[in-house]
Amino acid sequence: MDCQDLVELVTAYLEDELDPDARARFETHLDICTGCANYLDQMRQTVDTLGSLPAEKLDPALRDRLLNAFREWR
Ligand SMILES: [Zn+2]
Repeated sequence: MDCQDLVELVTAYLEDELDPDARARFETHLDICTGCANYLDQMRQTVDTLGSLPAEKLDPALRDRLLNAFREWR
């Protein structure tokens, strides 16, 4: 799993909809990638604040910014 896969699966992860195999790969990536771990924390806080997930799909502009940021960390 790479950062782009993780970003696409984060809503399913937070809703506990990943199958065990995908979930294991998701969590393995979190262990090795600070950017995605921070991203997940932010998503969790957003969900806590709103009481639900903000949207099924991320705003594409926001997603591009995140992915660019991830690339810079490598
Ligand atoms: Zn990542």
